[in-house]
Amino acid sequence: MLFTFQLKTPSQGLIDITPEIREAIKESGVMEGLCIVFCPHTTAAITINENADPDVKTDFIKGMDKFFPDLNVFEHSEGNSDAHIKSSAVGASETLIITGGRPLLGTWQDVYFCEFDGPRNRKFYVKII
Ligand code: ZN
Repeated sequence: MLFTFQLKTPSQGLIDITPEIREAIKESGVMEGLCIVFCPHTTAAITINENADPDVKTDFIKGMDKFFPDLNVFEHSEGNSDAHIKSSAVGASETLIITGGRPLLGTWQDVYFCEFDGPRNRKFYVKII
């Protein structure tokens, strides 16, 4: 079963999409299986990270800016090569284990949509098998 979700993003940031994923799994009725979360954009990504301290999300973006800065040697005319690199570094998808009708996540883990070149209207897919 395939679910599509829309979201509006800030200029940069991590958006918690775990509630949508939990709801999709519940609606699918799958009790034991796999859940693939996929981002169809080239300047955004999907990751799993800490849900307790909101500073982790802020520091994640600060770290990405530090390690993947916007360099003046880039040639891409859109001017967002740093965001394209961040997108590939983080990755377009995550695979979750479904057990007992729920995603198997650690206590401090949530799933995040990562925006690196917003604000934009974005979407992500959740495939449950
Ligand atoms: Zn571009």
